[in-house]
Amino acid sequence: SSVAAFQDLTDNLPDWVEAYRAYAAEGRVATYIPELAHAPQQALGITLHHKSGAVISAGDAGMPFTLQSISKVFTLLLALMDRGEKAVFEKVGMEPTGDVFNSMLKLELVQPGKPFNPLINAGAIVISSLIRGDSPEHKAERIVRFIRELAGDEGPSINEHVYRSEAETANRNRSLAYFLKDNKVLDEEVEPTLDVYFRQCAIEVTCAQVARMGLVLANDGADPFTGRELIPKRYVRIAKSFMVTCGMYNASGEFAIQVGIPAKSGVAGGILALVPGELGIGIIGPALNDKGNSTAGVHLLRLLSERYDWSMF
Ligand code: GLU
Repeated sequence: SSVAAFQDLTDNLPDWVEAYRAYAAEGRVATYIPELAHAPQQALGITLHHKSGAVISAGDAGMPFTLQSISKVFTLLLALMDRGEKAVFEKVGMEPTGDVFNSMLKLELVQPGKPFNPLINAGAIVISSLIRGDSPEHKAERIVRFIRELAGDEGPSINEHVYRSEAETANRNRSLAYFLKDNKVLDEEVEPTLDVYFRQCAIEVTCAQVARMGLVLANDGADPFTGRELIPKRYVRIAKSFMVTCGMYNASGEFAIQVGIPAKSGVAGGILALVPGELGIGIIGPALNDKGNSTAGVHLLRLLSERYDWSMF
């Protein structure tokens, strides 16, 4: 039962986290956004938030980190709420790529320039252009407010250092965006669109906030405590499907086999995961494996999934 599982977690999670820090040695902290390079290699933290209200944290769960690619799940949801399904999928596809997150490779393969899915950078940049708002600041503010609502916490805000650090160095994302613009997939101007994208990536959170966001998705978009609909169920289903097929970069297939739950990782080392109908999970472990996922974080999720039989498959 989930009560017994939570007792087992309470008894063991701190020890598991301490032991699993060792996996950080297999990975490396991302440095291509200079500001991310300062993150502590050995850090590992986790929060699980059960629908009963029970919350368990261990390790460095209080350490703030930026959402990075985890934000793409939430801008997809907001774009769906702002524009509807038809308008969104005129601009992005529904298929995994098997390529690295910032690849340009497939942008010329299908319907000129249309990104394969909303979780790779090209797709996420197009999604950022669909968020309603009068200016990049206004659009980013709406994204932050949406994150706060799902986190049940006013804490999440944009880390200005990370935002600027990425904006100053993002030659590859700039080239993706200009390519999309040239192909008329991107209707908005390049720089204001990228400005929204860099800000959403720089939203700073903790494991507890991410776990609470995951719990809303686990609960099909309804606030787990008031029952109020925060996101239409149909859109949550779409987001969870993308998390399963594309959420862990080009290791999503392996993750589906080894862990088997919807998840999305980011280059700061965060992971958002959820057990449908049960709980939300937030993890931070800045050292990344060769596919760009938190190495200790993935090992820890694998342990928990095996122990509590979480796999959806
Ligand atoms: N802001 C990062 C980028 O576009 C996000 C990448 C990621 O987390 O995968 O490079």
